[in-house]
Amino acid sequence: MKNNDNISINQKLGLLKPAIKWVFSKVWKLTPLWLSLKLVFTIIPAAMLALQALVARELINTLIEVTRESNGNFNTILLWIILALVITVLQTTFLSGRQYVSRRLNETLQINITIEVLEHARKLELETFENPELQDILARAQSNIANNVNNFINQIFSFITDLISLISIVGILVIIDPIATLLLFPISIPYLIFHWKQSRKAYIKSRNRTTRKRWIRYYSQTMLNNNSVPEVKLLDLAKPLIGRYQNFMEEFIKEDREIYSRQIMGNILFAILFAGAIAITSGWIAWRVFQGLLTIGDLVIYGRATRQLQSTIQSSSTSITSTLQQAMYVSDLIEYLNLKPKLFSHNNFIPDNIDGKITFENVTFAYPGSKMTVLHNISFTIEPGEVVALVGENGSGKSTIAKLMARLYDPDLGNIYFDNQKLKNFDLDYLYSQIAFVFQNLNKYEASVAENIAYGNWHELMNDRESIEAIAKKVGIDDMIRNMPEGYDTLLGRKFGNYNLSGGQWQKIAIARAIARKASLLILDEPTANIDAHTEHEIFTNFRKLSQGRTTLLISHRFSTVSIADRIIVVDKGRIIEQGSHRELIQIDGRYANLYKLHKSHLN
Ligand code: ADP
Repeated sequence: MKNNDNISINQKLGLLKPAIKWVFSKVWKLTPLWLSLKLVFTIIPAAMLALQALVARELINTLIEVTRESNGNFNTILLWIILALVITVLQTTFLSGRQYVSRRLNETLQINITIEVLEHARKLELETFENPELQDILARAQSNIANNVNNFINQIFSFITDLISLISIVGILVIIDPIATLLLFPISIPYLIFHWKQSRKAYIKSRNRTTRKRWIRYYSQTMLNNNSVPEVKLLDLAKPLIGRYQNFMEEFIKEDREIYSRQIMGNILFAILFAGAIAITSGWIAWRVFQGLLTIGDLVIYGRATRQLQSTIQSSSTSITSTLQQAMYVSDLIEYLNLKPKLFSHNNFIPDNIDGKITFENVTFAYPGSKMTVLHNISFTIEPGEVVALVGENGSGKSTIAKLMARLYDPDLGNIYFDNQKLKNFDLDYLYSQIAFVFQNLNKYEASVAENIAYGNWHELMNDRESIEAIAKKVGIDDMIRNMPEGYDTLLGRKFGNYNLSGGQWQKIAIARAIARKASLLILDEPTANIDAHTEHEIFTNFRKLSQGRTTLLISHRFSTVSIADRIIVVDKGRIIEQGSHRELIQIDGRYANLYKLHKSHLN
């Protein structure tokens, strides 16, 4: 079991600054208004804390003065009460305003960042989705994308709030008694450093879990996915899969437990030290009040300020932990958005017209990340409108040739030409628009039958029922569709609907989807593997009409299908060993003829 968990982490830890820069410049571009308002609504209520304490002190002191003097004026007290009230109302208003602004900011981020992530996925090539390390990046970036950015912003703001509160409280304490402050404040600094270090450790642990987390997701999906459930049930695979799932989870719990227990010990130690310091300094302040050097108001707000100091330090240590945690998620997102697609076009060539000639010239290829050369020095040409079949044993490289032809990968050596123009030179979107590909593992879209066909050319067909029906008639599936519960509107697949198709029926829909595409190159990779011989014969006698002069590459194991091709190319272990028409190959009496004889003797 390959484990990519131990990726070098050191360079990842200087990421707070770039994450902050990235997030704020992005959010500023998206919504400067909500970001500024959030800043205003964060700073003002935090700064009001000191004002509130000072007003409380004056209120208490005035109250004591007024009660001592026989002719004291109660109006002064009233003034302080009103002031305290105004401050409280303002503070509440600002806090509610902040809630509203945060929600608006969150909504904007949710939609914009999620779309950016999906748009970026569209640009990335197939190789990215097959590379285990890049899949880790994808997995990290895609878990809760927008929420992580939003939480990061919230954490930074709550850190700002804590910092302002801290300054206010320390200010109040200094006004009352600088000596007492000198004892309380330094205790907090090692505590904050301790939390910073703990949160770094927690993140490294969490990052090192990415591959294991993907395994966990894979185990649960295998047990829950409707395609894999039947076999998992019959083989009773749930037991070993749950066992592996449980092992990983137990590892995580063990790791977490170490961190939590260290954090709890740190918190207890801090609480004891701080309580001791408060006891000493409170005694000191009371002594000074007793001596008449400080007022009762001072004593009251001193008590309040020390309690606030303790809770603010605790909450800022939480903010530090979460800010760092979120910064790391954000850096994962940045890492993902910085993944550059390697398959780009060299000069965005778009021709006026395509005839559909394909040329492979000395093509050698190994799958990215794999050391095994799959194709060795392959050369062949397919003329415009020609139907060519690839024949060969499993694993000989037929599908790989098809995928290279569709530029899902680039060859390592040699070149592929489309109408004498290098494939690499074409604008990629244009090139893909010229290719209709029926894959071996075709996609079964959870959508209506009409949509399943229209997806082949959705720009034009999405709302064109007439053309969709015409295509279905051509492929010979109109009757099959009309017999479905809601005809062309039947929702296919069992994730959202109640109707599913057989493997062969899905293949017919996929062929219709390919025919719907206005492409000059048609690639069919075992399109009829699940279709019975009788229907296959029907499809392929009709096939020359369906392909309408399009260049066609056909991969099949059935000789009835292969023999309709103009030319057959026989592939063996990544090399072309024979080519010619069915008759020519039989005459040569080579590998193809052997396979054909074997097939015929089987039928007899
Ligand atoms: P065929 O279509 O003739 O059955 P393929 O072209 O699918 O054969 O496969 C040729 C070889 O390439 C096989 O050995 C297979 O293991 C390998 N292969 C196929 N797809 C991949 C992939 N995505 N990554 C790595 N190796 C692959």
